[in-house]
Amino acid sequence: MRKPVIAGNWKMYKLLGQAVDTALALKPLVANASHCEVVIAPVFTALKTVADRLDGSNIAVAGQDCAVQNEFGAHTGEVSAAMLNDVGCSHVIIGHSERRQFYGETDGSVNRKAQAALASGMTAIVCVGEQLAEREAGNADAVVKAQLTGSLAGLTVSDMERIIIAYEPVWAIGTGKTATPEQAQEMHGHIRRTVAGSHGEGVAKAVRILYGGSVKPDNISSLMAQDDIDGALVGGASLEAESFASIVNYK
Ligand code: PEP
Repeated sequence: MRKPVIAGNWKMYKLLGQAVDTALALKPLVANASHCEVVIAPVFTALKTVADRLDGSNIAVAGQDCAVQNEFGAHTGEVSAAMLNDVGCSHVIIGHSERRQFYGETDGSVNRKAQAALASGMTAIVCVGEQLAEREAGNADAVVKAQLTGSLAGLTVSDMERIIIAYEPVWAIGTGKTATPEQAQEMHGHIRRTVAGSHGEGVAKAVRILYGGSVKPDNISSLMAQDDIDGALVGGASLEAESFASIVNYK
């Protein structure tokens, strides 16, 4: 039985006080959500304070990215997975499409970051997803398969216990255009079959695959009703405690 994960990506929103206020508002609203794991990903500068204020709650804290390196070094501007873990993060989002599109993230760097996250004892939320033109050209399956193959290369069966995959079609992120539950299910099935091919049936059955792309309180239930959808990675609708809590409490 795969335990669902509902994760909120706050992107580059919220000053420190706003992040703390939202986290504290969320805490009682999701306190009874034992049916799923709840994760929020504030900006780097808010992680330590938010993690401290949520200590002992059922909300885990994630970084939105990490360095490919895990050792101290001359890497100006980078933050390592070990540093995220040090301030209270248990998860890190890796390979979000905004990083792939605008900051030069590749499957190779996603793979190194995933290895760094695992070496630091964290769970990595590895994002994949096709662009609109790739879907329209009939290449969505091949694109996602290549992203998975590159991003998960060399990870062992036991490494995969701390990998969560997020399928986020780029055309659905922040656009209000959600993939239909059927479209999402079709791709999630393809992702699970791809993982079965690369890491075996056992890993494929156990790995959580989240859907991301304009998830809202009014579409979460139909997405969660699909066999291979094990949760959601939520952007815009995670910024307000009430709307994110309604998504968490979809049951
Ligand atoms: C995201 O940024 O991961 C995302 C899915 O955003 P939104 O929910 O706003 O589409």
